[in-house]
Amino acid sequence: MRGALGGPRVLLRRLREVMAEPVHAQEKLDRIVIQIAANMVAEVCSVYVMRADGVLELYATEGLKREAVHLTAMRADEGLVGLIAREAEPLALSDAQSHPAFSYRPETGEEIYHAFLGVPILRAGNTLGVLVVQNRAHRLYSEEEIEALQTTAMVLAELIASGELQAIATPGADIAIRRPLHQRGVCLADGVGLGHVVLHEPRVVVKNLIAEDVQREVQRLEDAIAAMRAAIDKLIERGDVAHHGEHRDVLETVRMFANDQGWLRRIREAVLTGLTAEAAVERVQSDTRARLLRQTDPYLRERLHDLDDLANRLLHTLAGTDLATSREGLPENAILVARSMGPAALLDYDRAHLRGVILEEGGPTSHIAIVARALGIPAVGEVENITSLVEQGDAIIVDGGAGEVQIRPAPDVEAAYAEKARLRARRQEQYRSLRDVPSRTRDGLEIDLNINAGLIVDMPHLAETNAAGVGLFRTEIQFMVAQRLPTTGEQLALYASVLEAAQGLPVTFRTLDIGGDKVLPYMKQVEEENPALGWRAIRIGLDRPGLLRSQVRALLRAGAGHHLRIMFPMVATVEEFEMAKAIVAREEAHLARHGHPPPASLSLGVMVEVPSLLFHIDEVARRVDFMSVGSNDLMQFLFAADRENRQVSARFDPLCRPALRALKVVAERADALGCPVTVCGEIGGRPLEAMALIGLGYRRLSMSPSAVGPVKAMLLKLDAGAITAEMERLLAGDGDLSLRKALLRFAEANDVPL
Ligand code: PEP
Ligand code: MG
Repeated sequence: MRGALGGPRVLLRRLREVMAEPVHAQEKLDRIVIQIAANMVAEVCSVYVMRADGVLELYATEGLKREAVHLTAMRADEGLVGLIAREAEPLALSDAQSHPAFSYRPETGEEIYHAFLGVPILRAGNTLGVLVVQNRAHRLYSEEEIEALQTTAMVLAELIASGELQAIATPGADIAIRRPLHQRGVCLADGVGLGHVVLHEPRVVVKNLIAEDVQREVQRLEDAIAAMRAAIDKLIERGDVAHHGEHRDVLETVRMFANDQGWLRRIREAVLTGLTAEAAVERVQSDTRARLLRQTDPYLRERLHDLDDLANRLLHTLAGTDLATSREGLPENAILVARSMGPAALLDYDRAHLRGVILEEGGPTSHIAIVARALGIPAVGEVENITSLVEQGDAIIVDGGAGEVQIRPAPDVEAAYAEKARLRARRQEQYRSLRDVPSRTRDGLEIDLNINAGLIVDMPHLAETNAAGVGLFRTEIQFMVAQRLPTTGEQLALYASVLEAAQGLPVTFRTLDIGGDKVLPYMKQVEEENPALGWRAIRIGLDRPGLLRSQVRALLRAGAGHHLRIMFPMVATVEEFEMAKAIVAREEAHLARHGHPPPASLSLGVMVEVPSLLFHIDEVARRVDFMSVGSNDLMQFLFAADRENRQVSARFDPLCRPALRALKVVAERADALGCPVTVCGEIGGRPLEAMALIGLGYRRLSMSPSAVGPVKAMLLKLDAGAITAEMERLLAGDGDLSLRKALLRFAEANDVPL
């Protein structure tokens, strides 16, 4: 084999002819291997196809014994073919049999061939099979030959992906391409959704792989690269990059890669082998994805993701299509799949058609999770490589609560989930039937159940759940989903409509809690070593009072004639509360001078979420009108465990004695000093935790709207006196630090539904 005969372009042209022939799939495959062997002057050319059971089956060969076809099969951990599939990288050897992974199969008669070149058949980074050429002579294949075989493998990838070969599959050994997959992630929003994949950033489907005119393709590629670079520059210059979560620094990185000569050279070389410009980009992108699927180093993965994004941009530029899915014409039962997505992008889709969201990124406290929960869309995050594992339109199931995804589910799996969804709907129905039952424990103790909110779309939940009010309105969400800083007028309009929607029920507005994990894409980021401990929330409000003042003004004006409640986040000392209070007083005076009517009453409170407050809680409780425990942050700071980092956040149980004792101090001192206190962190919405909180003395809880039903069902069966005694006993004990098991036993023994 001395170089390819006629070169890869001639081969691609021949393959195009074969592909177009109206012949049986096996015949087509047989002709393809003959063409490849002849063109590459190889004595053997074989195609192995990946089956659903992970085994690579010989589907066609020129040169090996014909009877081995559909007989020879290797597991992915067997032989050189398995190695190539596993690594998703080409392998060239001058003497295959001396390689430790070589696995001899007598039925093939391959013992006489020494030189071996195998390449993975890749599509979107997934290995669909392996293409091999072999020669008798000991020789090493050149870079050009390896490149040519990889290009050829793309044609086979198309053939396999088309599903055409399923017709010749051995019965009971389906081809992997449509294989069902089960993936795990983390729960972002509860609920079960069944539907079909809609890629938030759809891939361009490259139909035309083989160039008619190579020079023309080279020119098309160069034009597209120039256009893409110009578009990126323009986006960066305009600064208007927030909409699709495209932060400036991300774009800067993309720009850097867009000028990466190594990456561009590989695409140019692929065009010169005879591919169309699109196919060349896809080839290089597929390699990138294959590396991505195998890379565990987070930094390298991030870089590979950047290259993948860039290839997408280039493909869309070539195709003249939009990067994001069109918001119109969303199919019924759409399940959105994305690497990452901003909350504004999610809000752009038609809620009526959305059944679920699946992301490669996005932790439970991310903004997209908050918005998905508000909209009641089941969502799962941190699902590795999901965008590579699915195709547009694939059947898919998202189980938010379990953090699981079923891709192309088998009929029995689909039926099981459909049943789960029905059961859930029935349970929701039962919760709805509790709507008008007073929220009172079995022994007659009133418990105020409130909802957490942050968008106007949350407000109808107030009436649906019959909650006592909005215990936490996260004002920063309006800022997070906006494309630029909302004006005082826009803030005022939102607060006024929230108060109107609340129809006289209390709403506790929390002032802007930004910084830390809550970033505003349009605001300049301050580089910090420890953003969670950094310049955030009330600290920004007090240092740069312009923003806080304008918000307080909007709140006071919207609150005219209402009972207005304002709460400050991340307060660490009573003095910070005093300073914030002074800002409010100043704004009140200002508005009065200008003849604006004041609120009917004004209550000011603090979030208890920084542990320092626990140690001067009396001073705080005496000065504020109310307190609300932000357990999400309080636990993060109490245990020094980043709430965004799953490796550490799940390590400490909020139902352990140290955490519960801290929560007890707040409940007791608030009660002693007559200061109303609520818990508005996530624990308030979990029935078991809520039961413990009632046992600690909490009488007000605020939670996501979907938690109201389960928590109410729990407390209706709870004896508050009994749980109070039990908590006292358990807290005084010296057994397991976590009281979770003991509390579960209590609930079971007392028939408290969780
Ligand atoms: C909390 O910290 O518990 C809280 C309710 O606030 P957020 O989750 O918005 O920080
Ligand atoms: Mg907080």
